[in-house]
Amino acid sequence: MLDRKMGVQKQIALVAHDNCKKDMIAWVKKNKDVLASHFLYGTGTTGAMIAKETGLPVRTFLSGPLGGDQQISSRIIENDINFLVFFWDPLEAQPHDPDVKALLRIAVLYDIPVANNQASADFLFSSPLMNEEYDRYIIDYSERIKRNINL
Ligand code: PGA
Repeated sequence: MLDRKMGVQKQIALVAHDNCKKDMIAWVKKNKDVLASHFLYGTGTTGAMIAKETGLPVRTFLSGPLGGDQQISSRIIENDINFLVFFWDPLEAQPHDPDVKALLRIAVLYDIPVANNQASADFLFSSPLMNEEYDRYIIDYSERIKRNINL
């Protein structure tokens, strides 16, 4: 088992598919004060829109379809991002669906809090753990993925 400590200030990635961007902006505006006390990241378009509409500093990666989700996945693996609010569109397929699936898998694998809709985000953000340190519990899968390869 591996422990990964989260500080009081979280590194939060914000991602929204096109049909969900309006909802994301509204949710960020509603939670602006809390979000201002953490570090924010986003895929290209989502991050730029949040920064423009709210004035919050957001470090942006590439746009999702151009690899932004993959960049966020890699930052989760590297322990530079430890929180994900991802409003994905349940009614429309995306050109980068494999990347979306990868991001969601990596988020589970590295035991980071994930909100995929507004209710989940509201519940997560009202948790007292938002203002505390937290030790994530990461299962060591190395035994499970050991393979026998006979040459
Ligand atoms: P975008 O990407 O913020 O650049 O639109 C979001 C996504 O589809 O992952």
